[in-house]
Amino acid sequence: MKKFVVANFKMNTTLTEFGAYLDEFLPRVKDCKSNIILCIPATHFHVANQRLSATSIKFGAQNISSEESGAHTGEISSLMVKDCGAFCTLVGHSEVRKKFKESFETINQKIIRALAVNLKVILCIGETKYERINKKTQQVLRRQLEVALKGLYENELKNVIIAYEPIWAIGSGKTPSVKDVEIAANDIRNIIADNFTSRSAEKINILYGGSINENNCSVFSKIRGINGLLVGGACLNPKSFANICK
Ligand code: PEP
Repeated sequence: MKKFVVANFKMNTTLTEFGAYLDEFLPRVKDCKSNIILCIPATHFHVANQRLSATSIKFGAQNISSEESGAHTGEISSLMVKDCGAFCTLVGHSEVRKKFKESFETINQKIIRALAVNLKVILCIGETKYERINKKTQQVLRRQLEVALKGLYENELKNVIIAYEPIWAIGSGKTPSVKDVEIAANDIRNIIADNFTSRSAEKINILYGGSINENNCSVFSKIRGINGLLVGGACLNPKSFANICK
C-alpha cells in the first residue's frame, strides 16, 4: 500500500521561496509513488492550488479554528481552508497545543469542524519525555485519542489519519526506538478498536513524526503498523524531502 509522506512547513518560507521550492521539488517527485501532502502556511494556498492541481500532490493547513465563523480575529475556519482547495489540516500539533494552551476538547471541536466540510484531518498525538520516563505513554495516548475523537461516527474515521509524534522527538534529533514506535502504533489501534471497531482500527492510517531525515526515513516508514511519516525540519530542503518521499 502507498505510504504517506506529509511535510509540516511550520512558519517557514515566503511565497517567493515557496515557488522556488516547488520548482526544485516537483520534478524530483514526478514518478514518486508515495501519497505526498504539503502542510503549508495559509498564505501559500492559492499558489499551491494552482501548481499542484495537475499533480498527485495534495496540500493542507497546519491548523484551523474550532469555531465555524464570526468574531475570531486572526483565525482561519475549516470552510475557508477547504474553499482554497486544501485536502486536509493538521490538528493538535504539539507546538500549537503548547503555545496556545490548546486542550484535547478544543482539538475535538476542530476535528468536528474539519470533517463537517470534508476536510481530512491529521491528528497529532504523543507523550512528553517525562510521561515516557514514567511509563505513561499508553495512558496518555488513550486519553488524547478518546477526547479528540469523541462523538465521531465510525464512518468518519476514514477521513482521519493519526500522527504519533513523541513531543521530545520533535526537532530534537532524537527518535524513539523502532520497538517503541511499533508498540505505540499497536496501542493506538487497540484504543481505536475499544472506542470504535476492530475493522476501523485495522484500517486507520498511522504516521510517525519526530526528527525524520533522509538517513532514518526508510527504517521508520517500514515499522509494522506505520503507514507513513510526518516530516518537519527535513521537509524544508526540497532535495532532501524529495529523497524522503522516494
Ligand atoms: C513536526 O513538527 O511535526 C516534526 C515532525 O518536526 P521534525 O521533523 O523537525 O522533528
